[in-house]
Amino acid sequence: MIQAARGTYDILPSDVGRWQFVERELRAVFERYAFSEIRTPAIEPTELFVRGVGAETDIVSKEMYTFVDRDGTTSLTLRPEGTAPVVRSYIQNRMSAESRMLKLYYIGPMFRRERPQKGRYRQFHQVGAEVLSSTDEPAIEAEVIEMLTLLFARLGVQGVTLEVNSVGCPACRGPFVERLREAIAARGSELCADCRRRGERNPMRVFDCKVAACQGTIAELPALHASLCDACAAHFGRFRGYLDDRRIRYTVEERMVRGLDYYMRTAFEMKSAALGAQDAVAAGGRYDWLAEALGGPPTKGFGFAMGLERLILSMPETESGHAATGPDYFLATIGDEPFRHAALLARRLREAGASVYLDFDRRSLKSQMRLADRLGARSVVMIGDDEVKSGKLTVRNMSTREQIEVTGDDLVETVRSHANS
Ligand code: ATP
Ligand code: MG
Repeated sequence: MIQAARGTYDILPSDVGRWQFVERELRAVFERYAFSEIRTPAIEPTELFVRGVGAETDIVSKEMYTFVDRDGTTSLTLRPEGTAPVVRSYIQNRMSAESRMLKLYYIGPMFRRERPQKGRYRQFHQVGAEVLSSTDEPAIEAEVIEMLTLLFARLGVQGVTLEVNSVGCPACRGPFVERLREAIAARGSELCADCRRRGERNPMRVFDCKVAACQGTIAELPALHASLCDACAAHFGRFRGYLDDRRIRYTVEERMVRGLDYYMRTAFEMKSAALGAQDAVAAGGRYDWLAEALGGPPTKGFGFAMGLERLILSMPETESGHAATGPDYFLATIGDEPFRHAALLARRLREAGASVYLDFDRRSLKSQMRLADRLGARSVVMIGDDEVKSGKLTVRNMSTREQIEVTGDDLVETVRSHANS
């Protein structure tokens, strides 16, 4: 038997209701906040992520699915994240010409070759939003976080905590990174090989290390937070003020960095108490360098990405929206002529707006009734030779057990007037 590839899984019909419910809620909330959807390809030139995410990040250095195209000319990568593709599209399609704040969102699968575990897969789904504009005013940062709190409320997700930090800008990060590099070198023997390598090439990445044995030392390394430049400190202060205006609670995590290189100033992460070890639901921040790093016009950016698997795992069972929606009509038939008759009636009912289940397996009437019950059909229409002859169909309401006789035309008319009301 061929199994799904490691770290991938099927969303089965029995679970898909939850996904559809979440996607509906997401779209509704994005619409309220004036975000428009953007859909970018699942494959991109590898170069996009090397430049847009950063060569020293975990994603680029060890998690990407990269392959050379069959003609040997291009290296392609299954997208591991959504921000670089959105900014690529923004540049390519000259969206900056709109000269207004662009609020974009995406929903789709992402691919990272990680060790699979609960809440961590190789193909997973992210919803994300990107705000691209000429202003770096932090009001939008608070609005985006507010939008997430509304979404959690609508999905019944409780116990989400917000951690915020500022990762500075090139002006304050430059001198700090040198200090950090020295501090890491001095304590290199206490750190993992990855950390030592990062210490030389990209010291800020050390704060992203997940190795348990490193955490004690990392907590004692200097934090950028204390040496932010005036502009970054002021930005962070305004951001916090906007959160306070909204009564959104948070903690400042001085050593939190984002997993991508292009972040600056505001960074945030949201964690759910309902999740185990993989407790980060959503994460985001400001990336004012990214558009230029990808060869585009100077553009301020702020966004987040949220894992849908983890979001769904943190939802209460009851909030699933998967109350099975059975068909409006189950057409139960006995014999060939009635089946042909029923198939045509099914078409008319569907055109009129009803959902109809027609039993192609042609089981006995008794089994058809049982199946109708199991599927949660609201009514069963019984069609045998007599019904075909008389033109009168027996319709049984499955909850009241009431039966009425109607013609096919009347039934179609009832559905149509219902659909129009
Ligand atoms: P983590 O620290 O858990 O590896 P990350 O920093 O790599 O997360 P981001 O790149 O910021 O994650 O992605 C944002 C969100 O996407 C995460 O908070 C998480 O909810 C989700 N996510 C990331 N990687 C995976 C994965 N392999 N499987 C499922 N969800 C994921
Ligand atoms: Mg990761």
